[in-house]
Amino acid sequence: MLLITGAAGFIGANYVYHYLEHSDEPVVVLDKLTYAGNAQTLEAAIATGRVQLVRGDICDRALVRQLIETHRPRALLHFAAESHVDRSIHGPGDFVQTNVIGTFSLLEETRAYWSTLPSAEKDTFRFLHVSTDEVYGSLSDTDPAFSETTPYQPNSPYSASKAGSDHLVRAWHHTYGLPVLTTNCSNNYGPFQFPEKLIPLMILNALEGKPLPVYGDGKNIRDWLYVRDHCEAIRQVLAKGRPGETYNVGGKNELKNIEVVTGICALLDELRPRSSGKYADLITYVKDRPGHDRRYAIDPTKIEAEIGWTPAETFETGFRKTVRWYLDNPAWIEAVRSGAYRTWLDTQYGQT
Ligand code: NAD
Repeated sequence: MLLITGAAGFIGANYVYHYLEHSDEPVVVLDKLTYAGNAQTLEAAIATGRVQLVRGDICDRALVRQLIETHRPRALLHFAAESHVDRSIHGPGDFVQTNVIGTFSLLEETRAYWSTLPSAEKDTFRFLHVSTDEVYGSLSDTDPAFSETTPYQPNSPYSASKAGSDHLVRAWHHTYGLPVLTTNCSNNYGPFQFPEKLIPLMILNALEGKPLPVYGDGKNIRDWLYVRDHCEAIRQVLAKGRPGETYNVGGKNELKNIEVVTGICALLDELRPRSSGKYADLITYVKDRPGHDRRYAIDPTKIEAEIGWTPAETFETGFRKTVRWYLDNPAWIEAVRSGAYRTWLDTQYGQT
């Protein structure tokens, strides 16, 4: 049985669906259902009878303890986080609380449970922590890509809080022997992403004829990873990763933000042409984000060599699937835009 935190969010929900295709093992999801948590996204997963969603906070140690003791998971996968850089600039407190204190809470309750396991189960238990390449700071256009040994230099409250959580996870292995795995991945894109993030924001604004805001000169570079590729990487690291190790996960798709936006516009011109003009006419440059990191890039040599994982999607194939998904799922988008997703769980189960 797997206990997964934060799987009503973008990557965790994709992971649940991906995992259901590969395993019969039951899954319990612990999610606070913040603005970024969308229980409705998990509707089809819950309908299989193999996935249970528990609404709760990872900082609530009594709840975490009760879930672990009741379900006795063979692994805990930790996706839950405050994840949006812009929000962290305006309100860093929630980021420290969930990302640092919440991870501490999970580590402590997991350690208490793990230490009581018989030695065979102790050896196979895993705590897998999902993190970001942003902990490494910013690269110039000519710097080599981030590897697992790149020093941490987080620049935003978000990345600093994730760096803090990574250090705690590392220490719980070195100090207590807890069998942890950490993955640091690049920018994900794909189905079910909340429309405050670059790619869904651009697709949805474009479809509504709204401006497409691009920070600064649009030349900030990110590596883009299709979310299903990321899910497969996590599944394989869980199965084959060496306890105490970290693995960088990248999509081999380094792109300037403006290239991403013009790429989306071109796809939309092909798939859903505007009545007049091109989608790129909507691009508007806006004041840069404070402390905006220039470039992130991932060196995936370790995960390729040790785990045997490589991304299946290219920029062209992954972006096409993603744009198609947003065009084909107006009901999901409408529930998010109208806020109806916030009350979906209550209407299903009468929970508060
Ligand atoms: P998301 O914001 O879409 O989802 C986060 C989920 O965590 C939500 O369902 C939310 O309700 C839940 N949550 C927040 N605080 C909680 C708390 N205190 N207790 C329980 N649940 C809580 O995030 P995402 O994009 O799916 O990211 C998942 C993980 O991957 C995060 O740890 C993030 O740092 C990391 N990551 C994301 C990206 C990306 O491109 N999206 C890139 C690198 C790393």
